[in-house]
Amino acid sequence: MLNLVLFGPPGAGKGTHSVKLIEKYNLKHISTGDIFRYEINNKTELGIKANGFIAQGLLVPDEVVLEMLFNEMDKYNDVKGFVFDGFPRTIVQAEKFDEMLQFRKMPVSLVISLEVNEEELIKRLIKRGIETGRTDDTEEVIRKRFEVYNKQTKPLLEYYRKQKILHSVYGIGGIQTIFENICKEIESEINKK
Ligand code: AMP
Repeated sequence: MLNLVLFGPPGAGKGTHSVKLIEKYNLKHISTGDIFRYEINNKTELGIKANGFIAQGLLVPDEVVLEMLFNEMDKYNDVKGFVFDGFPRTIVQAEKFDEMLQFRKMPVSLVISLEVNEEELIKRLIKRGIETGRTDDTEEVIRKRFEVYNKQTKPLLEYYRKQKILHSVYGIGGIQTIFENICKEIESEINKK
């Protein structure tokens, strides 16, 4: 089982590379952000609750995210593994996630951290906001999302570094080159086992 966490700040390319990875390694993509957007579009109770946080650039509370994620994983019993995109985003999420995965005997195999500087990220997100109409890709909300990322999500780098499963990949340049570098990291970890 290959359980991959794709980590990085907003706009780092997690979504783009997740799609390529699930195809190459035959995995299931779980993007908590995509699930929330689906729920928001369908005006479900969960969507309405989550939107109050997302629209302001804040994180959805851990217990809401964790329940949703566990339910989502339960739908796929017969898969070769998962790509987690945008999850975990807090230490509490990572700890609860580890507990659950330990119970299921399917730990996180590796964490790929996409490294992109803030100036490039802001440029990408503003462009994405214009192209897709994503309402949290406006300058004010983007700034808040970075603040939240630095405070609540970045400490996870240390969390996974300590577990010795963190791999960094430079995330600026051609998509194919970056993707190949991600695959090299995955294969180096697979070959260790
Ligand atoms: P994303 O598409 O991953 O950038 O997520 C969009 C928004 O959904 C984030 O800015 C958060 O408000 C919310 N969100 C997505 N994943 C999580 C998570 N793991 N924990 C808390 N909030 C999340």
